[in-house]
Amino acid sequence: MKDLELLIRTIPDYPKPGIMFRDITTLLADPKGLKKAIKSMVMPFEDEKVDAVAGIEARGFILGGAIADRLECGFIPIRKKGKLPWKTIGQEYTLEYGVDVIEIHEDAIVNGWRVLIVDDLIATGGTAEAAVKLVWRSGGTIVGATFIVDLPDLGGMKRLDALNIHSHALVAFGGHWLGGWPASGTDGGGIRLHCRVAGGSRRTAQLPGLRRTRARNHRPINSAICGVVRA
Ligand code: AMP
Repeated sequence: MKDLELLIRTIPDYPKPGIMFRDITTLLADPKGLKKAIKSMVMPFEDEKVDAVAGIEARGFILGGAIADRLECGFIPIRKKGKLPWKTIGQEYTLEYGVDVIEIHEDAIVNGWRVLIVDDLIATGGTAEAAVKLVWRSGGTIVGATFIVDLPDLGGMKRLDALNIHSHALVAFGGHWLGGWPASGTDGGGIRLHCRVAGGSRRTAQLPGLRRTRARNHRPINSAICGVVRA
């Protein structure tokens, strides 16, 4: 069997120029790869008491369902705004441009339940942090968060560490930077970072969670700037 990393397809410039999209559908289609990924995502949590898996739309549903089955617990969907049919609690999170909202059913979590968060990939950690807050606001506690892919340059895992969340990923891909360039002041709490982009112009991006020292050392790159998207 190929390494998990080799089963993940990288699509440059999708869905827009500058983004390196890490496509896990190729891994999902590989029977041994899928089995290994699910087993490895479960392993750090298999001795924990888990009452429910909360999967983040959409690829977190595929993985989360299988993980819930292995942990012999139920599955709770966390969806984009307006998709869930019953009464919901919503949580805002920051995108490159503006904000988005994810939601959970208000009665999905019983007070005191221990919940495992699942998604395919963590980048800036904004989505995962919003999911954590939804669980907390619903009366649950977090057992941990498990992902196939981490993009460490974007600081998502550190963001979860700061919340004392035990997070875990199977594969890391370096070289990711925000693919778009937000207008000044769009992202409170982020760090300003100067990047050299194709054509030699100098722009400023915000990378929430990236350490300042690291930001100072960063002088990327040429036309091959990588990025992050939310799908
Ligand atoms: P973030 O909130 O920045 O951690 O983004 C995580 C969410 O966006 C996950 O649901 C991922 O599926 C998606 N995502 C972000 N960046 C990428 C990327 N480079 N390739 C594939 N999916 C991504």
